[in-house]
Amino acid sequence: MKRPTPASQKTGCGPLIPPLSDTLRPLRQQVFERVRAAGLIARVQVAKDLGVSPASVTTITSELIEAGLIEEVAATREGETGRGRPAVALGVRAAAHHVVGLKVSDRDISAVVVDFGGTILARHHEERRPVALSPAEVVSVIETLVDRVAAKAGMTRGDLSAVGVGLPGYIDTASGQVLWSSILAERAVPLAALATARLGLPVQIDNDANLCAMAELWFGAGRGLSDFAVVTIEHGLGLGMVLNHRIYRGARGIGMELGHTKVQLDGALCRCGQRGCLEAYVADYALAREATTALNWTHRDGQSMIVLLESLYDHAKAGNQSARSIFRRAGRYLAVGLANVVNLFDPALIILAGARLRFDYLYAAETLAEMQALVLDTGRPLPAIETHAWGEMLWAQGAAALALSAVSEGLLTQPREIAATA
Ligand SMILES: [Zn+2]
Repeated sequence: MKRPTPASQKTGCGPLIPPLSDTLRPLRQQVFERVRAAGLIARVQVAKDLGVSPASVTTITSELIEAGLIEEVAATREGETGRGRPAVALGVRAAAHHVVGLKVSDRDISAVVVDFGGTILARHHEERRPVALSPAEVVSVIETLVDRVAAKAGMTRGDLSAVGVGLPGYIDTASGQVLWSSILAERAVPLAALATARLGLPVQIDNDANLCAMAELWFGAGRGLSDFAVVTIEHGLGLGMVLNHRIYRGARGIGMELGHTKVQLDGALCRCGQRGCLEAYVADYALAREATTALNWTHRDGQSMIVLLESLYDHAKAGNQSARSIFRRAGRYLAVGLANVVNLFDPALIILAGARLRFDYLYAAETLAEMQALVLDTGRPLPAIETHAWGEMLWAQGAAALALSAVSEGLLTQPREIAATA
Protein backbone atom coordinates (compact mmCIF):
# COMPACT_ATOMS: atom_id res chain seq x y z
CA MET A 1 0.00 0.00 0.00
CA LYS A 2 1.45 3.37 -1.04
CA ARG A 3 1.33 6.24 1.38
CA PRO A 4 2.28 9.80 0.45
CA THR A 5 5.60 10.91 1.95
CA PRO A 6 5.01 13.38 4.78
CA ALA A 7 6.01 16.94 3.83
CA SER A 8 8.44 17.03 6.76
CA GLN A 9 10.60 14.40 5.00
CA LYS A 10 10.85 16.38 1.73
CA THR A 11 14.18 18.02 2.35
CA GLY A 12 15.28 17.97 -1.28
CA CYS A 13 18.80 17.25 -2.45
CA GLY A 14 21.52 19.00 -4.45
CA PRO A 15 23.31 22.25 -3.55
CA LEU A 16 21.16 24.95 -1.96
CA ILE A 17 22.22 27.95 -4.04
CA PRO A 18 20.58 31.16 -2.89
CA PRO A 19 18.70 33.12 -5.56
CA LEU A 20 20.54 36.13 -7.05
CA SER A 21 23.91 34.65 -6.16
CA ASP A 22 27.05 34.43 -8.26
CA THR A 23 25.91 31.19 -9.86
CA LEU A 24 22.23 32.11 -10.26
CA ARG A 25 22.32 35.56 -11.78
CA PRO A 26 19.25 37.16 -13.32
CA LEU A 27 19.04 36.76 -17.07
CA ARG A 28 19.31 40.50 -17.69
CA GLN A 29 22.63 40.53 -15.85
CA GLN A 30 23.84 37.59 -17.95
CA VAL A 31 22.75 39.38 -21.14
CA PHE A 32 24.52 42.59 -20.10
CA GLU A 33 27.72 40.72 -19.18
CA ARG A 34 27.63 38.85 -22.48
CA VAL A 35 27.41 42.14 -24.41
CA ARG A 36 30.16 43.73 -22.29
CA ALA A 37 32.51 40.77 -22.79
CA ALA A 38 31.89 40.57 -26.55
CA GLY A 39 32.38 44.28 -27.26
CA LEU A 40 29.89 44.06 -30.12
CA ILE A 41 27.44 41.20 -30.51
CA ALA A 42 24.20 40.49 -32.38
CA ARG A 43 21.02 39.71 -30.39
CA VAL A 44 20.71 36.29 -32.01
CA GLN A 45 24.23 35.40 -30.88
CA VAL A 46 23.46 36.45 -27.29
CA ALA A 47 20.44 34.13 -27.37
CA LYS A 48 22.58 31.27 -28.71
CA ASP A 49 25.37 31.83 -26.18
CA LEU A 50 22.97 31.87 -23.23
CA GLY A 51 20.71 29.10 -24.52
CA VAL A 52 17.55 31.23 -24.27
CA SER A 53 14.95 32.31 -26.81
CA PRO A 54 15.69 35.28 -29.11
CA ALA A 55 12.38 36.80 -27.95
CA SER A 56 13.47 36.98 -24.31
CA VAL A 57 16.81 38.50 -25.35
CA THR A 58 14.94 41.11 -27.42
CA THR A 59 12.78 42.05 -24.44
CA ILE A 60 15.75 42.34 -22.09
CA THR A 61 17.95 44.26 -24.51
CA SER A 62 15.10 46.75 -25.11
CA GLU A 63 15.00 47.34 -21.35
CA LEU A 64 18.76 47.73 -21.19
CA ILE A 65 18.75 50.17 -24.13
CA GLU A 66 15.96 52.18 -22.52
CA ALA A 67 17.93 52.31 -19.29
CA GLY A 68 20.90 53.66 -21.26
CA LEU A 69 23.23 50.80 -20.35
CA ILE A 70 23.70 49.37 -23.85
CA GLU A 71 23.19 50.75 -27.34
CA GLU A 72 22.71 49.59 -30.90
CA VAL A 73 25.71 49.95 -33.17
CA ALA A 74 25.70 49.55 -36.93
CA ALA A 75 28.09 46.71 -37.77
CA THR A 76 29.07 45.31 -41.13
CA ARG A 77 28.50 41.60 -41.53
CA GLU A 78 31.52 39.50 -42.34
CA GLY A 79 32.12 39.28 -46.06
CA GLU A 80 29.66 42.07 -46.76
CA THR A 81 30.74 44.72 -49.23
CA GLY A 82 28.78 47.56 -47.71
CA ARG A 83 25.61 47.16 -49.76
CA GLY A 84 22.24 46.65 -48.17
CA ARG A 85 21.16 47.39 -44.61
CA PRO A 86 23.99 47.12 -42.09
CA ALA A 87 23.55 44.51 -39.38
CA VAL A 88 22.82 45.86 -35.92
CA ALA A 89 25.01 44.80 -33.03
CA LEU A 90 24.79 45.62 -29.36
CA GLY A 91 27.52 47.25 -27.30
CA VAL A 92 27.86 48.77 -23.85
CA ARG A 93 27.08 52.52 -23.84
CA ALA A 94 30.51 53.78 -22.78
CA ALA A 95 29.23 57.14 -21.49
CA ALA A 96 26.61 55.55 -19.21
CA HIS A 97 28.96 55.47 -16.21
CA HIS A 98 32.49 56.40 -15.24
CA VAL A 99 34.46 54.95 -12.37
CA VAL A 100 37.85 55.47 -10.74
CA GLY A 101 40.18 52.59 -9.92
CA LEU A 102 42.93 53.35 -7.46
CA LYS A 103 45.74 51.51 -5.73
CA VAL A 104 47.51 52.68 -2.61
CA SER A 105 50.73 50.78 -1.96
CA ASP A 106 53.60 51.28 0.45
CA ARG A 107 55.54 53.42 -1.96
CA ASP A 108 53.15 54.82 -4.55
CA ILE A 109 49.58 55.52 -5.56
CA SER A 110 48.12 55.02 -9.01
CA ALA A 111 44.67 55.76 -10.37
CA VAL A 112 42.69 55.51 -13.60
CA VAL A 113 39.34 56.78 -14.84
CA VAL A 114 37.54 54.28 -17.06
CA ASP A 115 34.23 54.47 -18.88
CA PHE A 116 31.46 51.86 -18.72
CA GLY A 117 33.03 49.98 -21.62
CA GLY A 118 36.34 49.66 -19.76
CA THR A 119 38.35 52.19 -21.79
CA ILE A 120 40.90 54.19 -19.81
CA LEU A 121 40.26 57.94 -20.09
CA ALA A 122 42.91 59.24 -17.69
CA ARG A 123 45.72 57.95 -15.50
CA HIS A 124 47.66 59.38 -12.59
CA HIS A 125 50.63 58.19 -10.57
CA GLU A 126 52.53 59.61 -7.63
CA GLU A 127 55.08 58.45 -5.07
CA ARG A 128 54.34 58.28 -1.36
CA ARG A 129 56.44 57.84 1.74
CA PRO A 130 56.12 54.30 3.15
CA VAL A 131 54.50 55.20 6.47
CA ALA A 132 51.38 53.78 8.10
CA LEU A 133 48.58 56.37 8.20
CA SER A 134 45.48 56.84 10.29
CA PRO A 135 42.16 55.82 8.68
CA ALA A 136 41.21 59.50 8.21
CA GLU A 137 44.56 60.18 6.49
CA VAL A 138 44.12 57.22 4.12
CA VAL A 139 40.63 58.46 3.24
CA SER A 140 42.12 61.91 2.52
CA VAL A 141 44.75 60.31 0.25
CA ILE A 142 41.98 58.49 -1.64
CA GLU A 143 39.87 61.67 -1.89
CA THR A 144 42.75 63.76 -3.25
CA LEU A 145 43.67 61.10 -5.82
CA VAL A 146 40.10 60.62 -7.01
CA ASP A 147 39.77 64.37 -7.59
CA ARG A 148 43.15 64.59 -9.33
CA VAL A 149 42.58 61.75 -11.76
CA ALA A 150 38.98 62.86 -12.44
CA ALA A 151 40.27 66.36 -13.29
CA LYS A 152 42.68 64.79 -15.78
CA ALA A 153 39.67 63.21 -17.51
CA GLY A 154 37.91 66.61 -17.51
CA MET A 155 35.47 65.42 -14.83
CA THR A 156 34.46 66.16 -11.28
CA ARG A 157 33.50 63.74 -8.56
CA GLY A 158 29.85 64.22 -9.50
CA ASP A 159 30.50 62.56 -12.89
CA LEU A 160 31.60 59.31 -11.23
CA SER A 161 29.42 56.35 -10.30
CA ALA A 162 31.80 54.36 -8.09
CA VAL A 163 35.38 54.00 -6.88
CA GLY A 164 37.43 50.81 -6.47
CA VAL A 165 40.41 50.85 -4.11
CA GLY A 166 43.17 48.27 -3.82
CA LEU A 167 45.57 48.06 -0.91
CA PRO A 168 48.01 45.52 0.50
CA GLY A 169 47.00 43.38 3.45
CA TYR A 170 44.05 41.37 4.70
CA ILE A 171 40.91 42.89 3.21
CA ASP A 172 37.35 41.62 3.58
CA THR A 173 35.77 42.93 0.39
CA ALA A 174 32.21 41.93 1.28
CA SER A 175 32.16 43.90 4.54
CA GLY A 176 34.56 46.60 3.30
CA GLN A 177 36.88 46.06 6.27
CA VAL A 178 40.65 46.29 6.31
CA LEU A 179 41.64 43.71 8.91
CA TRP A 180 45.31 44.63 8.57
CA SER A 181 47.33 46.63 6.06
CA SER A 182 50.88 47.95 6.04
CA ILE A 183 49.56 51.37 4.99
CA LEU A 184 47.17 51.64 7.97
CA ALA A 185 48.25 52.29 11.55
CA GLU A 186 45.11 50.61 12.92
CA ARG A 187 43.49 47.21 12.57
CA ALA A 188 39.87 46.36 11.67
CA VAL A 189 39.14 49.63 9.84
CA PRO A 190 35.79 49.93 8.00
CA LEU A 191 37.58 51.74 5.19
CA ALA A 192 34.94 51.27 2.47
CA ALA A 193 32.26 52.89 4.65
CA LEU A 194 34.58 55.74 5.71
CA ALA A 195 35.60 56.48 2.11
CA THR A 196 31.99 56.17 0.86
CA ALA A 197 30.89 58.74 3.45
CA ARG A 198 33.71 61.17 2.61
CA LEU A 199 33.45 60.90 -1.20
CA GLY A 200 29.69 60.64 -1.46
CA LEU A 201 30.29 57.74 -3.86
CA PRO A 202 30.09 53.98 -3.40
CA VAL A 203 33.58 52.68 -2.64
CA GLN A 204 34.67 49.03 -2.90
CA ILE A 205 37.96 47.83 -1.49
CA ASP A 206 40.02 44.72 -2.19
CA ASN A 207 43.39 43.14 -1.66
CA ASP A 208 45.89 44.29 -4.28
CA ALA A 209 46.73 40.76 -5.47
CA ASN A 210 43.03 40.09 -6.10
CA LEU A 211 42.88 43.26 -8.18
CA CYS A 212 45.89 42.15 -10.18
CA ALA A 213 43.98 38.93 -10.97
CA MET A 214 40.88 41.03 -11.72
CA ALA A 215 42.89 43.09 -14.25
CA GLU A 216 44.06 39.89 -16.00
CA LEU A 217 40.49 38.51 -15.90
CA TRP A 218 38.94 41.66 -17.38
CA PHE A 219 41.63 43.04 -19.66
CA GLY A 220 44.50 40.58 -19.93
CA ALA A 221 45.63 37.02 -20.47
CA GLY A 222 42.97 35.54 -18.18
CA ARG A 223 39.90 36.67 -20.14
CA GLY A 224 39.40 33.29 -21.80
CA LEU A 225 40.55 31.09 -18.91
CA SER A 226 38.31 29.59 -16.24
CA ASP A 227 41.06 28.79 -13.74
CA PHE A 228 44.31 30.70 -13.35
CA ALA A 229 46.56 32.20 -10.70
CA VAL A 230 48.34 35.53 -10.43
CA VAL A 231 51.29 35.67 -8.07
CA THR A 232 52.44 39.17 -7.21
CA ILE A 233 55.94 39.75 -5.92
CA GLU A 234 56.63 43.15 -4.48
CA HIS A 235 57.07 44.30 -0.93
CA GLY A 236 55.02 41.23 -0.02
CA LEU A 237 53.98 38.13 -1.92
CA GLY A 238 50.33 37.83 -2.94
CA LEU A 239 48.09 35.41 -4.79
CA GLY A 240 44.96 36.19 -6.77
CA MET A 241 43.12 33.02 -7.71
CA VAL A 242 40.46 32.82 -10.39
CA LEU A 243 38.24 29.75 -10.18
CA ASN A 244 35.44 29.28 -12.70
CA HIS A 245 35.96 32.82 -14.11
CA ARG A 246 35.58 34.47 -10.67
CA ILE A 247 37.99 35.72 -8.06
CA TYR A 248 38.08 33.20 -5.22
CA ARG A 249 38.13 34.95 -1.83
CA GLY A 250 37.29 32.16 0.59
CA ALA A 251 34.27 31.79 2.87
CA ARG A 252 35.28 34.70 5.10
CA GLY A 253 36.83 36.91 2.46
CA ILE A 254 40.54 36.62 3.14
CA GLY A 255 41.68 33.35 1.58
CA MET A 256 44.63 32.79 -0.71
CA GLU A 257 47.36 34.21 1.51
CA LEU A 258 50.11 32.34 -0.33
CA GLY A 259 52.75 34.64 1.16
CA HIS A 260 51.94 33.36 4.63
CA THR A 261 51.85 29.66 3.83
CA LYS A 262 54.68 28.06 5.78
CA VAL A 263 57.69 26.74 3.94
CA GLN A 264 59.95 26.27 6.98
CA LEU A 265 59.13 25.34 10.57
CA ASP A 266 60.64 27.92 12.93
CA GLY A 267 62.03 29.69 9.87
CA ALA A 268 62.66 33.36 9.08
CA LEU A 269 60.53 35.96 10.80
CA CYS A 270 57.74 37.40 8.65
CA ARG A 271 56.01 40.79 8.73
CA CYS A 272 52.88 39.01 9.99
CA GLY A 273 54.68 38.09 13.22
CA GLN A 274 54.91 34.37 12.47
CA ARG A 275 57.89 32.37 11.29
CA GLY A 276 58.70 30.42 8.14
CA CYS A 277 56.26 32.20 5.78
CA LEU A 278 57.06 32.04 2.06
CA GLU A 279 57.04 35.84 1.95
CA ALA A 280 59.86 36.00 4.48
CA TYR A 281 62.13 34.31 1.87
CA VAL A 282 60.97 35.86 -1.38
CA ALA A 283 59.63 39.40 -0.90
CA ASP A 284 61.61 42.62 -1.27
CA TYR A 285 62.31 42.96 2.43
CA ALA A 286 63.59 39.37 2.61
CA LEU A 287 66.13 40.03 -0.16
CA ALA A 288 67.11 43.33 1.47
CA ARG A 289 67.62 41.60 4.83
CA GLU A 290 69.87 38.99 3.24
CA ALA A 291 71.81 41.68 1.38
CA THR A 292 72.51 43.74 4.47
CA THR A 293 73.70 40.64 6.36
CA ALA A 294 75.54 38.54 3.79
CA LEU A 295 77.20 41.39 1.94
CA ASN A 296 77.74 43.41 5.08
CA TRP A 297 75.91 46.37 3.59
CA THR A 298 74.51 48.85 6.00
CA HIS A 299 70.92 49.76 5.27
CA ARG A 300 71.33 53.50 5.66
CA ASP A 301 68.43 55.56 6.88
CA GLY A 302 66.76 57.26 3.98
CA GLN A 303 68.19 54.83 1.45
CA SER A 304 65.24 53.31 -0.27
CA MET A 305 64.82 49.56 -0.47
CA ILE A 306 64.49 49.84 -4.23
CA VAL A 307 67.99 51.32 -4.46
CA LEU A 308 69.32 48.54 -2.23
CA LEU A 309 67.68 45.84 -4.37
CA GLU A 310 68.83 47.43 -7.62
CA SER A 311 72.35 47.39 -6.27
CA LEU A 312 71.99 43.74 -5.20
CA TYR A 313 70.77 42.90 -8.68
CA ASP A 314 73.66 44.73 -10.34
CA HIS A 315 76.15 42.85 -8.15
CA ALA A 316 74.54 39.52 -9.06
CA LYS A 317 74.68 40.37 -12.74
CA ALA A 318 78.33 41.34 -12.43
CA GLY A 319 79.10 37.88 -11.01
CA ASN A 320 79.14 38.49 -7.26
CA GLN A 321 78.54 34.98 -5.85
CA SER A 322 76.96 36.12 -2.57
CA ALA A 323 74.48 38.31 -4.41
CA ARG A 324 73.71 35.50 -6.84
CA SER A 325 73.12 32.99 -4.09
CA ILE A 326 70.62 35.34 -2.43
CA PHE A 327 68.51 35.39 -5.60
CA ARG A 328 68.99 31.67 -6.21
CA ARG A 329 67.79 30.83 -2.72
CA ALA A 330 64.77 33.11 -3.06
CA GLY A 331 64.04 31.48 -6.42
CA ARG A 332 64.07 28.03 -4.83
CA TYR A 333 61.55 29.12 -2.20
CA LEU A 334 59.42 30.71 -4.90
CA ALA A 335 59.48 27.36 -6.71
CA VAL A 336 58.15 25.65 -3.56
CA GLY A 337 55.29 28.17 -3.38
CA LEU A 338 54.39 27.89 -7.06
CA ALA A 339 54.56 24.08 -6.99
CA ASN A 340 52.14 24.09 -4.04
CA VAL A 341 49.75 26.28 -6.02
CA VAL A 342 49.91 23.82 -8.94
CA ASN A 343 49.43 20.77 -6.72
CA LEU A 344 46.43 22.36 -4.99
CA PHE A 345 44.60 24.07 -7.85
CA ASP A 346 45.93 22.78 -11.17
CA PRO A 347 45.57 26.21 -12.86
CA ALA A 348 45.81 26.58 -16.65
CA LEU A 349 48.21 29.50 -16.27
CA ILE A 350 50.31 31.12 -13.56
CA ILE A 351 51.08 34.79 -14.12
CA LEU A 352 53.94 36.31 -12.16
CA ALA A 353 53.19 40.00 -11.83
CA GLY A 354 54.61 43.04 -10.17
CA ALA A 355 55.67 46.55 -11.00
CA ARG A 356 59.33 45.65 -10.75
CA LEU A 357 59.70 42.29 -12.43
CA ARG A 358 63.27 42.79 -13.39
CA PHE A 359 64.97 40.47 -10.96
CA ASP A 360 65.38 37.79 -13.58
CA TYR A 361 67.15 35.50 -11.18
CA LEU A 362 63.86 34.73 -9.44
CA TYR A 363 62.34 33.46 -12.66
CA ALA A 364 65.37 31.73 -14.08
CA ALA A 365 65.38 28.28 -15.65
CA GLU A 366 66.66 26.94 -12.32
CA THR A 367 63.48 28.07 -10.57
CA LEU A 368 61.33 26.33 -13.18
CA ALA A 369 63.40 23.15 -12.96
CA GLU A 370 63.05 23.19 -9.19
CA MET A 371 59.33 23.67 -9.55
CA GLN A 372 59.03 20.80 -12.02
CA ALA A 373 60.70 18.55 -9.45
CA LEU A 374 58.16 19.54 -6.76
CA VAL A 375 55.00 19.26 -8.84
CA LEU A 376 53.34 15.84 -8.85
CA ASP A 377 54.69 13.75 -11.69
CA THR A 378 51.63 13.11 -13.84
CA GLY A 379 53.56 12.82 -17.07
CA ARG A 380 52.11 16.16 -18.16
CA PRO A 381 54.01 19.40 -18.60
CA LEU A 382 53.80 22.24 -16.05
CA PRO A 383 51.03 24.78 -16.58
CA ALA A 384 52.06 27.80 -18.62
CA ILE A 385 53.97 30.36 -16.56
CA GLU A 386 54.21 33.94 -17.79
CA THR A 387 55.75 37.04 -16.33
CA HIS A 388 53.76 40.23 -16.82
CA ALA A 389 55.32 43.56 -16.02
CA TRP A 390 52.31 45.74 -16.78
CA GLY A 391 53.58 48.65 -14.76
CA GLU A 392 51.84 50.32 -11.89
CA MET A 393 48.56 50.93 -13.78
CA LEU A 394 47.71 47.21 -13.74
CA TRP A 395 46.46 47.36 -10.17
CA ALA A 396 44.45 50.51 -10.76
CA GLN A 397 42.78 48.88 -13.77
CA GLY A 398 41.83 45.90 -11.62
CA ALA A 399 40.35 48.32 -9.06
CA ALA A 400 38.38 49.96 -11.88
CA ALA A 401 37.04 46.54 -12.90
CA LEU A 402 35.91 46.00 -9.29
CA ALA A 403 34.06 49.34 -9.39
CA LEU A 404 32.53 48.58 -12.81
CA SER A 405 31.18 45.22 -11.69
CA ALA A 406 29.78 46.83 -8.53
CA VAL A 407 27.96 49.42 -10.64
CA SER A 408 26.48 46.90 -13.10
CA GLU A 409 25.55 44.41 -10.37
CA GLY A 410 23.88 47.18 -8.39
CA LEU A 411 21.82 48.14 -11.41
CA LEU A 412 21.00 44.71 -12.75
CA THR A 413 20.28 42.61 -9.68
CA GLN A 414 17.63 44.95 -8.33
CA PRO A 415 14.46 42.91 -8.02
CA ARG A 416 12.15 45.21 -9.99
CA GLU A 417 12.74 47.46 -12.98
CA ILE A 418 16.23 48.38 -14.06
CA ALA A 419 17.10 51.70 -12.49
CA ALA A 420 17.17 54.36 -15.18
CA THR A 421 20.52 56.03 -15.63
CA ALA A 422 21.06 59.70 -16.17
ZN1 LIG B 1 53.68 35.74 7.38
